[in-house]
Amino acid sequence: MNDDIYSLYEKCELCPRRCGIDRTAGERGYCGAGTDARAALTMIHRWEEPCVSGSDAVKGSGAVFFAHCTLGCVYCQNYAISRRNAGENGSLKGLREMDAQSLAEEMLSLAGKGAYNINLVTPTHYMPVIVKAVETARNKGLAIPVVYNTGGFERPEMISLLEDTVDVFLTDMKYLSDVTAMKYSRTSVYVKSAWEALNEMVRITGEGPEFDEEGMIRRGVIVRHLVLPGRARAAQEILKKLYARYSDRIIYSLMNQYTPLPEGNPELCNYPELLRPVSDGEYRRAVRTLKELSPEYAYIQEGGTISESFIPKW
Ligand code: SF4
Repeated sequence: MNDDIYSLYEKCELCPRRCGIDRTAGERGYCGAGTDARAALTMIHRWEEPCVSGSDAVKGSGAVFFAHCTLGCVYCQNYAISRRNAGENGSLKGLREMDAQSLAEEMLSLAGKGAYNINLVTPTHYMPVIVKAVETARNKGLAIPVVYNTGGFERPEMISLLEDTVDVFLTDMKYLSDVTAMKYSRTSVYVKSAWEALNEMVRITGEGPEFDEEGMIRRGVIVRHLVLPGRARAAQEILKKLYARYSDRIIYSLMNQYTPLPEGNPELCNYPELLRPVSDGEYRRAVRTLKELSPEYAYIQEGGTISESFIPKW
């Protein structure tokens, strides 16, 4: 890969919003991102799926949480770092601007701390610098898998450019319909984009997931669905559609950790239906569907809804 990948910033169509603006000239699109990667936090992270985070007390996933987001969901649990103006006026203490060289060094540092993988959280708007950083880090000895941890709002043309960069796609399938996508994520093209991108992720990673001798994922696609309050039926339909299309070629992850946080995200108050956690009954209905489908690889969350303390402090 040569430096041409940076030219994608000049008429930015990295995500389905296709703003078409020149980020190299200082213009900012819907996401608000510049050209260097802004990372809000890097850490050894232990709260992803077990094949990503492991169960070791010291090791974990080497997470880089990027600021800004192409989706900007109204219920975002990382509201402080995802907004268009994230970090303005010094509001995020740990925020760092990283070019490809410094991002590569951060990846090597995480590997040195025992990371099982490099987990790029919300990476879409920084794809060019990420591609260069991974190439640089691998040339310097990075030998762990690279995980592309995305909300699923992707263009297949961009995903295909990641064929030599990404080993594991950890992606969402958030919505059954674009009516809901428009209401909660302000896009009318989420569903089409997410399915087309997922097709490309599955094509890239092959016939099914691969694991190492410790059970950690080496290659594959994990598809998450976060059940939203009042939307158990949508969760059931999404699971059925995923299984009909991909059967055992993907790993299913059905999440109940939706946490309403109106204190940190005042916008959420405009959506009263989202101001409560998912009920046990709603989640159980979705779990029942997953069990009926009985895929080879699937995760569910047990022991109640995840607590706010699991959300990093930025
Ligand atoms: S990555 Fe950002 S600027 Fe580029 S198309 Fe998407 S929202 Fe617009």
